[in-house]
Amino acid sequence: MGKEISLYVHIPFCDHKCIYCDFYSIITQENRNSYISALEKEIHYVKSLLAVQRKISTIFFGGGTPSLMGPKFIGEILNYIHKNFNVTESAEITLETNPGTVTKEDFKEFKNLGINRISIGVQSFHDKDLKFLTRIHDRQTAINSIRQAAESGFENVNLDLIFNLPGQTKKEWIENLKTAVSLPVKHISAYSLILERGTILNKLVLDGKVKIGDDDYDADLYETTIDFLTQSGFRQYEVSNFCKEGYECKHNLAYWDHREYVGLGPSAHSFLQGKRWWNFSSLKMYIDKIEKSGNAVRGEEKLSGNEMLEEFVMLALRSKGLNLNVFKSKFGNSWLEKKKKILDELKSGGMIYFTGDFIKLTKKGYSLCDEILLKII
Ligand code: SF4
Repeated sequence: MGKEISLYVHIPFCDHKCIYCDFYSIITQENRNSYISALEKEIHYVKSLLAVQRKISTIFFGGGTPSLMGPKFIGEILNYIHKNFNVTESAEITLETNPGTVTKEDFKEFKNLGINRISIGVQSFHDKDLKFLTRIHDRQTAINSIRQAAESGFENVNLDLIFNLPGQTKKEWIENLKTAVSLPVKHISAYSLILERGTILNKLVLDGKVKIGDDDYDADLYETTIDFLTQSGFRQYEVSNFCKEGYECKHNLAYWDHREYVGLGPSAHSFLQGKRWWNFSSLKMYIDKIEKSGNAVRGEEKLSGNEMLEEFVMLALRSKGLNLNVFKSKFGNSWLEKKKKILDELKSGGMIYFTGDFIKLTKKGYSLCDEILLKII
């Protein structure tokens, strides 16, 4: 039996488009049946690529808003995956949901389908922030969703939050964190607001109509987040991710450990045998391409040895640290020798530390993660 592999399924449907979002999503569901039949064909394509039988150890339904499509739709996809792949007994199966698109009954049905991890896109517990972000839910709906997920038997619940929103005070952000840890959640993803090109929010900021806090304010909120969550029993295991002991997201760990994964659906990316490829984003093009050629590959690249090394270092340092033994067995010793001076400087500057076989970022290092990675790579 071969190595384990992770599976991502992109469900592109949303209720509406939020002003800050650059994920591929559409607000019409008229192609939902064609999407499912294209996805089934893509599953056959992926199966043919996995020459040796591979076990699926994690499945992640992301989007878009997978929960919007309801349990029957998700169940159909899941059945097809089970029919064609060997999914491990203990597989982590995550469903992204948005408050306001899922009822307690739905949560129960999702649970019966075998989904065992729920990720809820809360973003903020302040109604003014949610209005600004053009989310469809309010504070109370978010709280209700989290409670309903827990009451329906989901023990492993994540919520997503965004900090440094326009006009957000530090006090308001801390209130968000306090509310989050008071709820039955095991995992919190806390991201700084990113201005993505092509979004309405980016245009508003460029036009000077909306202002966001500067880098110092952003770093202050970030360090506050690390302090608050670690003091509340959550462990930081990646730049933006915190969890109670034993509740790391296994699917994301696969990305960060540079393991292999396959993405299904429009805009999904895959990484297999040193090759990365990505699908057409537009749902129509995704469906057309699959109808014509059985796959939806838009482009691909073979990573060079050096690219593999750099990606490995980058992903490892952003998450659980660089395991020197694993690194040496994959890439040898010469890169580490070449970087010794920079690593020593970062260590004496309090950005990284050495522990056992690992190099890890300190709290200060996490705040300056991108700069540190640029320096090293
Ligand atoms: S619900 Fe999520 S995926 Fe959909 S538009 Fe909003 S942020 Fe993007």
